[in-house]
Amino acid sequence: MSTSIPNVKLLIGGELVESRTTQWRDVINPATQEVLARVPFATPEEIEAAVSSAKQAFKTWRKMPIGARSRIFLKYQQLIRENMKELAAILTAEQGKTLADAEGDVFRGLEVVEHAAGIGNLQLGELANNVASGVDTYTLMQPLGVCAGITPFNFPAMIPLWMFPMAIATGNTFVLKPSEQDPMVTMRLAELALQAGVPAGVLNVIHGGVDAVNAICDHPDIKAVSFVGSTRVGTHVYNRASQAGKRVQCMMGAKNHAIVMPDAHKEQTLNNLAGAAFGAAGQRCMALSVAILVGEAQQWLPDMVAKAQTLKVSAGVEPGTDVGPLVSCAALDRVSSLIERGVAEGAQLALDGRNPSVSGYADGNFVGPTIFSGVTPQMSIYKEEIFGPVLCVMHAATLDEAIEMINANPNGNGTAIFTRSGAAARHFQEEIDVGQVGINVPIPVPVPMFSFTGSRASKLGDLGPYGKQVVQFYTQTKTVTQRWFDESDVGGAVNTTITLK
Ligand code: NAD
Repeated sequence: MSTSIPNVKLLIGGELVESRTTQWRDVINPATQEVLARVPFATPEEIEAAVSSAKQAFKTWRKMPIGARSRIFLKYQQLIRENMKELAAILTAEQGKTLADAEGDVFRGLEVVEHAAGIGNLQLGELANNVASGVDTYTLMQPLGVCAGITPFNFPAMIPLWMFPMAIATGNTFVLKPSEQDPMVTMRLAELALQAGVPAGVLNVIHGGVDAVNAICDHPDIKAVSFVGSTRVGTHVYNRASQAGKRVQCMMGAKNHAIVMPDAHKEQTLNNLAGAAFGAAGQRCMALSVAILVGEAQQWLPDMVAKAQTLKVSAGVEPGTDVGPLVSCAALDRVSSLIERGVAEGAQLALDGRNPSVSGYADGNFVGPTIFSGVTPQMSIYKEEIFGPVLCVMHAATLDEAIEMINANPNGNGTAIFTRSGAAARHFQEEIDVGQVGINVPIPVPVPMFSFTGSRASKLGDLGPYGKQVVQFYTQTKTVTQRWFDESDVGGAVNTTITLK
């Protein structure tokens, strides 16, 4: 093993520790194939040590005054801001997205940290005075204990920050398992959390794959699991962790459609479609996969192709890049083979982005913007989440037909409509069965005062991963009903009914 390549550390009990595992994986720059680091697959003993340090830390952290918790996140948001450029550079190197998009990834997580700093206003119970004579009822929102998070590769800053700040701010301790494909920016964020004052054991990070995830699902001391990733893995996590008696939320895969009405603002719409379909190389759970052109809007296809051709494909560090590489060689193979299947199954390749020539980055995992027209719901490119810069174009005669197509798709993560008609937009908003809805907004990820959501196959569990809902997710509501007797109160009758008087 070469010594010049750093090993990613585990975070256990407030210390960054070298794993004793024999199983390692390379973290690779997807634009160059340079090995940036090695990530360990934590041993069962290391996973146990992380959970037990979180369990120990919970004993004191759960009693930490709310203001003290809040001030740690005030400090944390400041540290993230101060280190934004470094965080974005690490993220771009290991994940591939452009530096501007990497800053966006960190920034959307930073907003959740800011929200966590306001925990004093979020974790409030309710009180009803005099529910019976001299009796009050109120609620406490108490932390659960050790909670855990499992995150995907595509937002290695934002999604970990969706999870542990709100879990910790509500008084829990946490074990995070980041994606093994790009754990480095997540680790830098964990280090900054320690610097901000998160005490030893309150945040722990383990690395790994299937075995680490299964250990989290099964561990009796973990009370809640938050998962973000594919539908296949999320369904497994939901079933396994629920059966082990945990609270579970899983945000999963997508096939996001946009409806383009013929009255839409054409130039704005084409810009938005191109950004949403091809930005981040299509590796967003909210990426636009399908554009349904309604009525005469179907004549816009050549303009869509022309717009997509203006995008620059290159490494994320290169100025002016619009579309960076796919995260891995395996992702490149998968996207390329799905494009082949699209052709074989009869879709028309209006723009073929395979094998783009990218000066200076001959080894990168690049696919340029790719557009299929004539796509039908039976085709693999429609049924599968491609997770690459590939847009499927379909047609509908009316808005209702387009809505019906979207509601018939199993996924319900994000959708958008482009129109100048308020009536059409309102009809869409009412009838569509999708979690995140955009009206002339292409990737409508909610800001943290709301909660991320999802319909049907895109989500399991009731509550969202941030916003108000996550305060409920990470707390147990207790109702207290109290009565105090004055010393002068005497007597009183035995009451055998269930009512309070
Ligand atoms: P993934 O499901 O492959 O991996 C997610 C996590 O699960 C990783 O930490 C990984 O180590 C672990 N994992 C992988 N295979 C496993 C297995 N067989 N058993 C147990 N654990 C396993 O997802 P990904 O490829 O990293 O991310 C892309 C997916 O995530 C896409 O489907 C995307 O739509 C989805 N996603 C959804 C949202 C959302 O909010 N709905 C957000 C981001 C990404």
